[in-house]
Amino acid sequence: MEYNYNNIELEKIYTYSELPDKQAGRCDNCGNSHFKSKVGNGEFLRECSNCGMKKSI
Ligand SMILES: [Zn+2]
Repeated sequence: MEYNYNNIELEKIYTYSELPDKQAGRCDNCGNSHFKSKVGNGEFLRECSNCGMKKSI
């Protein structure tokens, strides 16, 4: 399955490999550059503080 930047699902946790940053360090959905981050299970989860999009880095 392919993902595209125009159809971001906020319920989903994307991974960097399936959806690389369109612009490094910015949210693919809203362009915000502030994130809340969580670390768990050896993964780093980045959540946009504006729209809530999640990506495992
Ligand atoms: Zn966002």
